[in-house]
Amino acid sequence: MFADLHLHSNFSDGTYTPEEVAMHAQRHDLRVLSLTDHDTVEGCERMSAACEKRGIEFVPGSELTAELNQNELHLIGYFLDTEHAELLEAMAKFQNVRQNRIHEMVARLNKLSIPLCPEAVFEIANCRSPGRPHVGRALVQAGFCKTLDEAFERFLKKHRPAWVPKFKISATDAIALIHRAGGVAVMAHPGLNRSDDLIPELAEAGLDGLECYHTKHPPSTVEHYLELAEQYEFLVTGGSDCHGMNKGKPLIGTIKLPYQHVRDLKQRADEIRRKYDQVSDRA
Ligand code: AMP
Ligand code: ZN
Ligand code: FE
Ligand code: FE
Repeated sequence: MFADLHLHSNFSDGTYTPEEVAMHAQRHDLRVLSLTDHDTVEGCERMSAACEKRGIEFVPGSELTAELNQNELHLIGYFLDTEHAELLEAMAKFQNVRQNRIHEMVARLNKLSIPLCPEAVFEIANCRSPGRPHVGRALVQAGFCKTLDEAFERFLKKHRPAWVPKFKISATDAIALIHRAGGVAVMAHPGLNRSDDLIPELAEAGLDGLECYHTKHPPSTVEHYLELAEQYEFLVTGGSDCHGMNKGKPLIGTIKLPYQHVRDLKQRADEIRRKYDQVSDRA
């Protein structure tokens, strides 16, 4: 039994609906899926239903953009309570930041004499958690760029002319928030952030796991993070980070995580819930 614990849908910047994600997963014989849309859990209800129909086990999740010592990092919360009031309130704030940022990015493009309008981006995004890929798709659709990659290279990548920094929750606060919402906190694609020096601090803050297996981790990187996970007693997770057709080719099926890791993740989620239930009982 294999899992893919890192998937995006059109509730953030993926192109597939939750139902399409589940359909493609089944074709690759994946039996456990997590939906990890950016700063939202909105897609989880539909994803859960789509998985149930196909006999796939579903793990609710979300990928939060966080920062530590001015470094951006992505933290995934697994087994989150998708109705947790504080979590939903925090996510609404992050979504608001994302929406304002679209306006700012479009304004920068306009200054570069690219007459894109924010409505074009919001129409493509059609969700509460829009991001740079939606701006990129709008640029391609309007003919200002040939590909999404070109849009990122010319305009959207960090320090390119239309890039706008965004407010990010601190990683320590994000880990605590995930735990209070009953979730397990995992650092996504550590190999992409070159953030090994942050790991001791993240461990101190209660980080539970490392996404050792990721499409963009070559075997040597996987080995490296498996070693770190053992050293820090972190859980091991993995996922394709599939965004549907964003990059021309869907990544789903590239990572097949053995079920044992899902079992460990579930056990940790139970421990976290017990701990926080006790805390709220005492309060
Ligand atoms: P944002 O959250 O708005 O900062 O956008 C980040 C998202 O952009 C990530 O989910 C990446 O998958 C995506 N991204 C980053 N670079 C590229 C690229 N060159 N082409 C397509 N998507 C990208
Ligand atoms: Zn994304
Ligand atoms: Fe990410
Ligand atoms: Fe992701």
